[in-house]
Amino acid sequence: MNIAEIVFPIPLNKSFSYQIPENLKTEQCINRRVKASFGNRTLTGYCIAVKENSIQQNQKQLKEIIEVLDKEPVITDEMNKMAAWLSQTYLCSTGEALSVIVPVSLKVPKRKEKPKKEITKKENPVFKVTKYQQNALDEIFLAIDKQQNINFLLHGVTGSGKTEIYLRSIQKVLEQNKTAIFLLPEIALTPQFIKIIKKRFGNIFALWHSEVSLIKKYKIFDSIQKGEIKIVIGARSAIFLPFENLGLIIIDEEHETTYKQNNKPCYCAKEIALWRAKYNNAVCVFGSATPALDTYKKCIDGSFKLLELPERIDSKPLPKIEMVSLKNVNLKNSVLSKKVISAIKQALARREQVIIFLNRRGFSSTLMCQNCDAVYQCPNCSVSMVYHKYPEVLKCHYCGKEIKFPVKCQKCGGKNFRIFGVGTQRVEEELKKLFPFSKIFRLDADTATSKDVYRKVYEGVKNEEYDILLGTQMVAKGFDFSRVSLVCVVDADTSLYLPDFSSSERTFQLITQVAGRCGRADIKGKVLVQTNFAQNYALVNAQNYSYKNFYEQEMDFRKQLQYPPFCDMAKVTVRNKQDKKAQEVAQSIYEILENKILKLNYQISLLGPCQNYIAKLNGSYRWQIILKGQNEQIRPLLKELINIKLPAQTYINLELNPTDLL
Ligand code: ADP
Ligand code: ZN
Repeated sequence: MNIAEIVFPIPLNKSFSYQIPENLKTEQCINRRVKASFGNRTLTGYCIAVKENSIQQNQKQLKEIIEVLDKEPVITDEMNKMAAWLSQTYLCSTGEALSVIVPVSLKVPKRKEKPKKEITKKENPVFKVTKYQQNALDEIFLAIDKQQNINFLLHGVTGSGKTEIYLRSIQKVLEQNKTAIFLLPEIALTPQFIKIIKKRFGNIFALWHSEVSLIKKYKIFDSIQKGEIKIVIGARSAIFLPFENLGLIIIDEEHETTYKQNNKPCYCAKEIALWRAKYNNAVCVFGSATPALDTYKKCIDGSFKLLELPERIDSKPLPKIEMVSLKNVNLKNSVLSKKVISAIKQALARREQVIIFLNRRGFSSTLMCQNCDAVYQCPNCSVSMVYHKYPEVLKCHYCGKEIKFPVKCQKCGGKNFRIFGVGTQRVEEELKKLFPFSKIFRLDADTATSKDVYRKVYEGVKNEEYDILLGTQMVAKGFDFSRVSLVCVVDADTSLYLPDFSSSERTFQLITQVAGRCGRADIKGKVLVQTNFAQNYALVNAQNYSYKNFYEQEMDFRKQLQYPPFCDMAKVTVRNKQDKKAQEVAQSIYEILENKILKLNYQISLLGPCQNYIAKLNGSYRWQIILKGQNEQIRPLLKELINIKLPAQTYINLELNPTDLL
């Protein structure tokens, strides 16, 4: 009788031995998902090795595996190596790593599948690529032909035809009998896009996102292993799909934070893409109009190759962006300025459509001095302090510093402050009052409950059932509507002064992206941005569409304060239903880390513990510790915490280079 080594998706980085049932051969067990009892529970784990029985273990009376879930192996060689790497890189157990690669939840369908329908006909577009597109394609094709692991950053303004480059590159690897993964932020999987893909590639592609059923996911998984599916287009987790012969990985809108998972294991799909591309000698294409700073830095450092599309298709002009200064403007309880209202009125009169954009994190409140416009900043951290109502204090969400309200302006001593931060509902009310005959669709986290809502919005706006689309981040991305001539950004300041070091970068990206939603067809586009800080470099550079200037100024700032990409950061979050418990555990972890740092003489600074920006989430209180240093030291330090024994009902999350510190 042989013994199976099983790892479970639990925070214990070791394998456990079980007996293989007599009716099964060892080959029917290895690299498959198995059910086994663990403590007093039944868990699904992964059989990662089998070995011959030794006398010792016989005496221990090992438990038997309850059930092997998969007929065929589901863990390939590459996946095994990937799991080991994930566990090292993101500080989780091998079982936890495998659980994102081959989800335990994939459901084996009961009935046998009908054979697949005939492959539908492929349709290629009629247009000729532009010279910029051709340049980019030449470089990518060369790398594909040579089977060279080259990573490209495709930096192209909105509407410059990046998608066409992705699709032709996919076509190219298919011709070489290779496969491709195409990642999009979940939000961008719009019906318009799916239609294009279907036309192009027929039945050999699959979609992979959170709303695909677990049975369907299993089928996709299986079809990929059988070689029937050669392309997957999907959200973050599609990066793990078991393609052999991977030739190309595309990551569109690569600056999006959704490529990072913020619960365990906190992986980054972009990093995994680079790992897999290297393993497979494949080509990576990251694309964006507003590349993440660290990706652009890689181009300068030489590990990425930069491809540029500086113009829109047909040299269509980019929409003009205008700052609408709110300084010295009395809005009288209204959210929209006169200028914005009149522009909306005019657009509606011309029977054009309008997008009104409000930052989702609009609930955050920051203080601005009415006299000198200074935003109240933490004396320790150079980030804005957050206004809390109950009790009325200002808090730094990095270091935990707290200041009683009222305060005096740090710059001029003024005592009058403005608090900024408004919600979408408030704006909707105002729009309804101002434009009672227009049809408004509000798209935000409350209304966008499923993909179906997107379809409704998309079709509704396309068919001109709506005049105004009002929403959060979700309206900023992906949509391609030809009759939108005006985009209004209600409040650029909330995102500009979020208590986070990346707030300027996010604001620059958001303004550029949302501006890209208009003027896409024959109607000229215009963008109005309401702000108190019309001179801020993030806004000015967005206005001028000058990514490079922004990049240089922002890198200066990051360098001065030693923020990423000049250092690495990590966030340790402790959760408990009781605030006090969470704080206590965070404190004790802080002390463990502090001692280790001293003992090993590491160059790591520890901040906190302090309450998370959203102190209570889903009934749990959250406390966090921030680490600043280099991953070479941060990783071994935090490794201590993987197997740490925590009090009941306490959870800990480790994030390396988190997308924000909020
Ligand atoms: P991006 O992804 O860079 O924002 P898209 O890929 O959405 O831009 O392209 C914008 C529009 O231009 C799309 O409708 C696309 O079909 C079209 N397009 C792309 N390349 C060409 C081309 N060479 N000639 C004409 N139209 C093109
Ligand atoms: Zn601080």
